[in-house]
Amino acid sequence: DRFERLSAISTFLMDHDLPVCPFTLDAAHDIVTGANPGLRALVAVQVAEGRPVTMPWLEDVVQTEGLQNGAAEIHTLILRLETMVDEFANTSSLAQTATRDYNSALEAHVDGLAAIDDGADVIGQITALARDMLTRTREVARELTRSERETRTLQKQLADARAEAEIDHLTGLPNRRAFETRYSQEYAATRESREALCVAFCDIDEFKRINDKHGHEAGDRVLRAVARSLAEISDDKCHVARHGGEEFVVLLRDKLIEDAYALIDEARAALASRRLVNRMTDVPFGRITFSAGIADVHAYAGPREALRAADDALLRAKEAGRNVVLKADPPDS
Ligand code: GH3
Ligand code: MG
Ligand code: MG
Repeated sequence: DRFERLSAISTFLMDHDLPVCPFTLDAAHDIVTGANPGLRALVAVQVAEGRPVTMPWLEDVVQTEGLQNGAAEIHTLILRLETMVDEFANTSSLAQTATRDYNSALEAHVDGLAAIDDGADVIGQITALARDMLTRTREVARELTRSERETRTLQKQLADARAEAEIDHLTGLPNRRAFETRYSQEYAATRESREALCVAFCDIDEFKRINDKHGHEAGDRVLRAVARSLAEISDDKCHVARHGGEEFVVLLRDKLIEDAYALIDEARAALASRRLVNRMTDVPFGRITFSAGIADVHAYAGPREALRAADDALLRAKEAGRNVVLKADPPDS
């Protein structure tokens, strides 16, 4: 296992013609073992795109990943712990099976030995020794059962902690981190399966005015209402997340840009047709709208470029007067 890991690390460094230094060893370790799934996904995309994994590129992505505050580190830590615990759970259940098999084999032999009664002292000693080993392996087995139980509890706690780290607490939607993980996964998966993938940025129109007029807390309630409204289109192929502030991001799998556009535009129209009221004061908020930009992800050089294109389209939607969804420009080439 250690040997395999080492050779995977050196293969990675040789394949990409990278120097051997603490930085590249550290990065290679995290990529090979999956200890840093974000980095691993970025490398996978880079390779799939036929672009080189160079030292400057690695430094750039490792740094950008590292800058995403402490929460990211906690998230990575959780993922790393999860991997370790999973490995341990496997090892411990394997060990349990092995111990059980070993015990039955030993038991059979002990019975066989006891049955030979030509009184030889040597046999008596061996039998006693074997009995002793049986007792000990039974203890080990008990110990393993206990540690396996503890591992299951730990696994559950880690899964909960991870879910917690990926939720936006104001709206209950997945947060930006969750979106980014999902985006890398869906990007790689749909590239492989040749399914369509679209990404849309939605930004509430003149939200600052809501805050100014009704107060920040009322603004929060509007944010939650918009989140709920957008979340109605989410399902196993449509991922709605809060990207930050009053901005949401939607990932649509297996939908051509026309259909994805229609879905987002329906959500836009549905919200625009409602009249929200501040439940605390009964003061109407009036019409709340959002603008959006949407892009066909695989039409662009990479996931980041597609995201930028959707953001550019959102900017144009704002310039066009808001409460509108615009498709991103095709990439120039
Ligand atoms: P535009 O139509 O151009 O998007 O105008 P805007 O006012 O929505 O845009 P701008 O980016 O200038 O303002 C966004 C505002 O959203 C500013 C900020 O105070 C507010 N905001 C961001 N996050 C939150 C939040 O969590 N709660 C509340 N109440 N307001 C927030
Ligand atoms: Mg904004
Ligand atoms: Mg806005």
